[in-house]
Amino acid sequence: MILAPGTQAAFRVSLPGVRSVIASRKGRRAPARPTGDWQRRWRLKAAEWQVLLSDPETQVRYHSKVHRRGHGECWFWLGAISDTGHGKLRAGTRTTAEGRPDTRVVASHVYGYQLSRGPLRPDADGKLPVIRHRCDESSCHNPSHWLTGTIKDNADDYTTRAGGLGSPLSDRRGPAGRARAIRDAILQALAEGTDVEHGITRAAEAGIPAVQDPLFVTDSSSAGMG
Ligand SMILES: [Zn+2]
Repeated sequence: MILAPGTQAAFRVSLPGVRSVIASRKGRRAPARPTGDWQRRWRLKAAEWQVLLSDPETQVRYHSKVHRRGHGECWFWLGAISDTGHGKLRAGTRTTAEGRPDTRVVASHVYGYQLSRGPLRPDADGKLPVIRHRCDESSCHNPSHWLTGTIKDNADDYTTRAGGLGSPLSDRRGPAGRARAIRDAILQALAEGTDVEHGITRAAEAGIPAVQDPLFVTDSSSAGMG
């Protein structure tokens, strides 16, 4: 498969400018959206992606880390979670097995997107698209919840939906804290044989401000005094 040059810049989730926009919204504290050098580490050349995407053992490993649920539900990542709440997949092999690619850590949703839809291709402007989550769950791996867009699209998603009642983006724990809590709840329920869906619901709701919080009136005159 031939890919255009430049496809190595395969993963970007930084949201320039978003932090300042959110911070200006009075009374709202934006969830942490850390950015870091780990994203750069995960940028691979198209040929490198191809090797990892066609490695059967990496494919098996990927699928083993995805907690599949109903068609329209979020499929959460059960492996390591990055500081931005995205899954991390160890691809390749640490050994020197013949015919196997060397190990490296990649963004699991970028791997999964390309596994299900084919390689990412640059847009008309030569830039690779960003993978967005319709569901705003950064660790979700349901392919039907993924769509591509520009960095601006991704930023617009965030500014439009962060702070919305019940939105994953309003989670007080930030995307990484939320993703890890949900992952841990699933793993615990599986280990103990308890209700996984109940565990997911509890873990997901634990960081969401109560519905009544935004309606809370601080004016003492309305507090029923006298
Ligand atoms: Zn989802």
